[in-house]
Amino acid sequence: MNVQVDFNLLPFNTFKLNSVARYFVELTSKAELAELTKFSKDKKLPIRILGGGSNLILPEKIEAIVVKNVLMGTRVLMETSDTVLISCASGMNWHQFVMSTIANGHFGLENLALIPGTVGGAPIQNIGAYGIEVNRFITQVHGYDFETGSTKTLTTNECQFDYRHSIFKTPAYKNFFITSVDFQLLKKANPVVTYAELAHAFSGKTATAGLVAEKVIEVRQKKLPDVAVIPNVGSFFKNPLVTAQQVDQLKKSTPDLVSYPQPDGRFKLAAGQLIDKLGFKGHKQGSVGMYEKQALVMVNLGNGRREDVVALVERVQQACLSVYGVSLEVEPIFW
Ligand SMILES: Cc1cc2nc3c(=O)[nH]c(=O)nc-3n(C[C@H](O)[C@H](O)[C@H](O)COP(=O)(O)OP(=O)(O)OC[C@H]3O[C@@H](n4cnc5c(N)ncnc54)[C@H](O)[C@@H]3O)c2cc1C
Repeated sequence: MNVQVDFNLLPFNTFKLNSVARYFVELTSKAELAELTKFSKDKKLPIRILGGGSNLILPEKIEAIVVKNVLMGTRVLMETSDTVLISCASGMNWHQFVMSTIANGHFGLENLALIPGTVGGAPIQNIGAYGIEVNRFITQVHGYDFETGSTKTLTTNECQFDYRHSIFKTPAYKNFFITSVDFQLLKKANPVVTYAELAHAFSGKTATAGLVAEKVIEVRQKKLPDVAVIPNVGSFFKNPLVTAQQVDQLKKSTPDLVSYPQPDGRFKLAAGQLIDKLGFKGHKQGSVGMYEKQALVMVNLGNGRREDVVALVERVQQACLSVYGVSLEVEPIFW
């Protein structure tokens, strides 16, 4: 185990914040987990798990042992005539995993192409895009608890997946390291093209999994800033869920309000539309701003600081609450 001291995580977070971890370790093998538990107990410091750093806002200093997950490998566990069960190590790059499944004739994840981060990061907030959430394909999540030093497997029901949420975001799982995820994929593609941009692109055309992935990649590249050029963490706020009554009320002052009915009777609003209407698209404040082409994305304008992020979050949240009476919840995780 190679431990580095006072290690700057700037290259390891897509918002490109300067953040110095007291200790930094790259975890390449599950055999090192017990050693890490001991190290954490000896140093009396907690462990923080870092995947691709694409959903994180970091502080200037982290008094913890930051473990960069680089566990690699995939294997087929079981096959039937219609499905395949694949186990994927949590340190694998998500997009590369998605593209490899399609290349191998295993389908389902195509709408989730080009989401940054690792396979282990995917269940944390139940990643979703273009009409699909990853929990649809997850059968089990395997992990290791740094506190107890024991392994545990959770079924998809036990993961309590919800919109951008899972049990892994709750305090009881703060020491839980996801080591691998099992996915049940289809051998015959069943492309989901209900999302407006996909429906339009494939109207009157045959959609294959490969073509859907290609289209998703094209749309994402047009809409979202490239993290290599403009540091960001994707959508900064969750789409708020409101009652039918609230939607009726809001539509009186905002007739073009976008709202999607949910199975539980509530409606999902588009946070980006609200932020845009509040005048924050392209708004700059300190070292950060809301992206000029997509109001939902906060960007680091250079030398971004966590306090500027927090100040802009508060400003957007307050404006949304006072104008629309709607609370906006942040999507990335603040360490
Ligand atoms: C340009 C851009 C576009 C994006 N688009 C989308 C999108 O369409 N849909 C979507 O849902 N998200 C999107 N995201 C957010 C992000 O990519 C996902 O949430 C991703 O799954 C985060 O994975 P990660 O490995 O980078 O996690 P990190 O950012 O490294 O970590 C996030 C949290 O998960 C925890 N964690 C990570 N790995 C593990 C593990 N193995 N075990 C336990 N805990 C772990 C960390 O401790 C941390 O608390 C986008 C981000 C960017 C920058």
